[in-house]
Order: sequence, then structure tokens, then C-alpha cells
Amino acid sequence: MSESHTGGCRCGQIRYRCEAAPLGASLCHCRDCQYASGGPFSAVAFFPGAALSLTGELRHYAVKGTAGLTVQRHFCPNCGTPIMSTLVEMPDLAIMKIGSLDQPSAVPPGNHVWCDSMVSWLKMDDGLPRLPGNPPL
Ligand SMILES: [Zn+2]
Ligand SMILES: [Zn+2]
Repeated sequence: MSESHTGGCRCGQIRYRCEAAPLGASLCHCRDCQYASGGPFSAVAFFPGAALSLTGELRHYAVKGTAGLTVQRHFCPNCGTPIMSTLVEMPDLAIMKIGSLDQPSAVPPGNHVWCDSMVSWLKMDDGLPRLPGNPPL
């Protein structure tokens, strides 16, 4: 059985489909994800880039991540929904925002990453591993 996940932005201009099971999913507490989400962390799912098909025009903003990789953060230019990130150095990876999935509950995260910048008031008692850097994929 082939697994697939669909999603898009709030205004409907961006739609996408990932024809694969996620390679993993994480709650990322890095500073950049705090800016990009407007919240204390981002929930992201890692998919093989080849599994992603997307319609609509994304815009992106590139930053140097904490690990030194160049992160391109893609969003809908109309409504601003963060859709995905890509890494210039790892072009085969599509890092989708779980909040942009049609069914966010279908992709539960397996760990917390970049926990050194986790906000101090966040209390999450989920028992998931807490890693100082990127997840192993
Ligand atoms: Zn939109
Ligand atoms: Zn992050």
C-alpha cells in the first residue's frame, strides 16, 4: 500500500502531495523555526524530494541554519502560510510543515531537535527524545 499525504496553504493557492511515507518527523526548536512559525517551534516532516509534487508559486527566504546548512524557507506569497523548507546542500529532501498538511495528526513527530533554544516556558511531557541538533535520517 502506498502512503500519501496532501496539504497546502490557507488561501488555497498552494497545493501539494507527497507520495511516500515520511522519513521522519520532528519538533524543531531552532531559532529560525521560531521566526518562521511565529510560535515556539516548528513541526516538520521529512520526505524524499522526489515524492513531492506541488502546484502554485512559492516564495522563499534563505538563511544559514545553526548547523551551517543553507535553509530555504518556502511560503505562500499570498497568505504567508509556511509550507516547506529545503536545504541547498541536500536537494533530495523536502521538509514539510506538518501544520500545512490536510491531516496534521497523520504524521506524529518522533523527537524534539535543537533543544538548546527551546523556550523556557514550554512544558511538554511527551516522553520523546530531545536532541541538541538535527535528527538522524
Ligand atoms: Zn496561500
Ligand atoms: Zn528548525
